[in-house]
Amino acid sequence: MKADADKCIACKRCFPYCPMGRIQTFKRHEKIPGRVYIEIDQERCTDCGVCLRANICPVKALYQPETPWPREVRSILSNPLIEFKGSQVPGRGTEEMKTNDVSGRFRPGEVGVGIELGRPGVGAYFRDVEIVAMELAPLGYEFAEENPITHFMTDKKTGKLREDILNEKATSAIVEGKCKLEQLPVILEAIKRAAQKVSSVFTVEVITKVPLEGEIPVKPVLEELGYWYSINTKNNMGLGEPPFKFYEE
Ligand code: SF4
Ligand code: SF4
Repeated sequence: MKADADKCIACKRCFPYCPMGRIQTFKRHEKIPGRVYIEIDQERCTDCGVCLRANICPVKALYQPETPWPREVRSILSNPLIEFKGSQVPGRGTEEMKTNDVSGRFRPGEVGVGIELGRPGVGAYFRDVEIVAMELAPLGYEFAEENPITHFMTDKKTGKLREDILNEKATSAIVEGKCKLEQLPVILEAIKRAAQKVSSVFTVEVITKVPLEGEIPVKPVLEELGYWYSINTKNNMGLGEPPFKFYEE
């Protein structure tokens, strides 16, 4: 995103809308004496489009310039209105991580594991995303096909991302996939190793189908390994019919 120096009146109205937080600096206009405008830090801006969509600039100074590849990857991950043609999924990940009740991506005995890197104000570089993906790839972690990060891999067996995006960043990015329940301890250990190397924050999502009776399958694993966790559920309220029955097969 950029602000047109000839239009901007440095009113600061766009500042609070930026999830990356005060990345605009004041500049003196070179040709108009006494005129100040704001310049958006192009390194920290993730092209999320929030400031533009807020439509609060009184002089329409904000504009999104063309973003040739590899910078284009910023908006693909950070702007939820942009659909990545490779995966045809808008935004950072796939909604099936949260709607397993309908889509049935994670079958009994399987665990969905999502690693969500970056947060507003921090962001995540793709070089950090690659670190996480490369720790997981050799352990039998199956990357989600539709996820944009999976599309940016040059080799899914190693988790290596394309070289040209490594120094680009997004507001956040999700490494998304699944493993067998018995692999979960080694997967979580790998994520711990990756945590020592990345320069951003991340949360880990562990997703499992809960049987009609009995214990949450991942609970004993998480407790034995000493992880704190928060239990959140997504329930099918009848708006979508599961294509099969989970526990009768
Ligand atoms: S596009 Fe997003 S990150 Fe960039 S200045 Fe606007 S709100 Fe901030
Ligand atoms: S809202 Fe518009 S005029 Fe005001 S500081 Fe932002 S870009 Fe400049």
